Amino acid sequence: MTADETLRQIRDEVRHCELCPLHQFRKLAVPGEGPAEAQVMLIGEGPGYNENEQGKPFVGQAGKFLDELLQTAGLNRQQVFITNVVKCRPPGNRDPEPSELQTCRRYLDAQIAAIQPKVIVTLGRFSMARFIENGRISQIHGLSHQVNGQLVVTMYHPAAALHQPDLRGQVLSDFARLKDLLNGPPAPSLTPPNPTPENPGSPAEPDAPYEQLSLF
Ligand code: URA
Repeated sequence: MTADETLRQIRDEVRHCELCPLHQFRKLAVPGEGPAEAQVMLIGEGPGYNENEQGKPFVGQAGKFLDELLQTAGLNRQQVFITNVVKCRPPGNRDPEPSELQTCRRYLDAQIAAIQPKVIVTLGRFSMARFIENGRISQIHGLSHQVNGQLVVTMYHPAAALHQPDLRGQVLSDFARLKDLLNGPPAPSLTPPNPTPENPGSPAEPDAPYEQLSLF
C-alpha cells in the first residue's frame, strides 16, 4: 500500500471508530489532513466545536492563528499534515482522558509511520507528552528534540496565545525558528540554554491547563 492509501484507510477507520466513549459525542471525527509527502506534521490536542462540525482540524480561531504561524515558518496548509492526539471532540472541550489518549494513539502512530515526517511539531501539552515525558511547555517551547530518531519541536498550542496575548510574540518567534530548522544546515541544537543570571529562562508562563472552551 502507498502512504496515501494507508492515510485514507486510517481516515476511514477513524470516521467509523467506536473504540472509546468520545465517539458518542461527535458529529464528525477529525482524522487530520495533508499530503502523504508532508515533511512537517503538526499535532494538536483534539477537535473543538468547529472541527467537530466540519470534520477538519484547526478550522476555528486557533486555526486562523496557526495559518499565520505556518506563514512565519515559510509554510502553508497544503504542505503540512495536521492532526490531533484524539480524533473526536471531548465534550465541552474538556481535556482528553488518559484512556482516550491511549486508545486513539494507534491512529496517530499509524499516521506518523505512513508519513515519516522530517519534523513533528507538537502543539500544546498533550501532544508534547506523547514524545517528551514530564516536559514543561513553559521551559521547552520552541525547542527541538531527537526522540527515538524523530525530530520533534515542542510548541505552545496556538490557543494559548489567544488566551494570553502576552504569549503571541513568543509563539510567533518560536515558529520563525522552525523555518531555520527546515531550511538551514543541521541546526545547532535548539536545546535549552543553560540558565544564567542574565537569562534565567522563560518568564512565568502557563503550564497550567488553559481552557479552550471559549475559543471554539
Ligand atoms: N485545537 C486543537 O488542538 N486541535 C484542533 O483541531 C483545533 C483546535
